[in-house]
Amino acid sequence: MSLLDHYAEQLDQLRQQGNFRQFRSNQQQGKTIEIQQQQMLNLSSNDYLGLASDLRLREQFFDETPNAQRLMSASSSRLLTGNFPAYEQLEATLTQLFHGRAALLFNSGYHMNIGILPALADAKTLILADKLVHASMIDGIRLSSAKYLRYRHNDLAHLQQLLTQYHADDNYERIIVVTESIFSMDGDETDLAALVALKQHFAKVMLYVDEAHAIGVRGQQGLGCAEQYGVIDAIDFLVGTFGKAVASVGGYLICDPIIRDYLINRMRPLIFSTAQPPICMAWTQFMLNQIVHMQAQRQHLAALSQSIQQGIQAKGFACPSTSQIVPVIIGDSTATVSKARQLQTAGFYVMPVRPPTVPQGSSRLRICLNTQFETADLTQLLDLL
Ligand SMILES: *Cc1c(COP(=O)(O)O)cnc(C)c1O
Repeated sequence: MSLLDHYAEQLDQLRQQGNFRQFRSNQQQGKTIEIQQQQMLNLSSNDYLGLASDLRLREQFFDETPNAQRLMSASSSRLLTGNFPAYEQLEATLTQLFHGRAALLFNSGYHMNIGILPALADAKTLILADKLVHASMIDGIRLSSAKYLRYRHNDLAHLQQLLTQYHADDNYERIIVVTESIFSMDGDETDLAALVALKQHFAKVMLYVDEAHAIGVRGQQGLGCAEQYGVIDAIDFLVGTFGKAVASVGGYLICDPIIRDYLINRMRPLIFSTAQPPICMAWTQFMLNQIVHMQAQRQHLAALSQSIQQGIQAKGFACPSTSQIVPVIIGDSTATVSKARQLQTAGFYVMPVRPPTVPQGSSRLRICLNTQFETADLTQLLDLL
């Protein structure tokens, strides 16, 4: 028996369950995507503001950025020689946007989430995480030496109960509550104002909020749900990614300057990985300069999202979404895959999402909207559901 047989059998099992995954090569232009000669509307991208596909902006960026600043490698971590001015400029911009708080950049949202919690949380720390937080935060929690518990998704009453119980426990010097603002699979959101109000009753509690799907999309300047609900200053660890609406790459943390210094000294993915190319910092900076002025696009996206949420509910599906991420929960994986295929044949690139990305029995189509769509684009999609 070959050593590979074990893996081949596991793959066969995935195929039988309808859970086998593979890469597909594609060509993208504007709001469309082409796969195997088939042109479809791209309803699976995280490019929520349509910035990644905007050729005019790309040209403007390269026109404004001389060759001397087009640095394609940092050649080392920031603690060695990788700390180019573009890094400090971008952090200064974030500090200015986020009420003077400190900012720290990471190579990706994944690096950020697997690095911050292990650096901050020791055996005297309890982590309470929402049941549906992103895999990157779960991995970060597992890499830490903290004890952790999950609270029921978006159930602040359950969280309050756990806080009351554990806050009195002298084994814990601090409790870190970990959540997303907009959740990546259900498209629903945490009531951040209520979460902050809850935290204020417990002296040992710090909040860790991931705005991966809210940065660019929510708030007057697109700074996320924390801006929208006026709680930027009350969230101890406000994190997000530039890889989605910001149309770039990298993660960021908004925090106290003490935490920033501490992470620079203790966070392994920050210390032991080559920093991103400085040109990516310059591009992120250029994107943020656009995003703060994109109120009209944010309003359009919100209206579009509301209209499709209502349409899906009218078809009899449960729709937890309050955002641009709109799931159509079908349940069975094979049925979900076949529905996705039907929609793709009709010209709508909607992807099935299956376990282990979502809980067993909750396979779904995941529709991601962006500002390039109009309500009329989606009428036929709703009919096909
Ligand atoms: C996408 C995502 C990440 C990972 O960010 P990357 O920059 O893509 O590595 C982290 N958290 C959440 C909630 C995400 O959706």
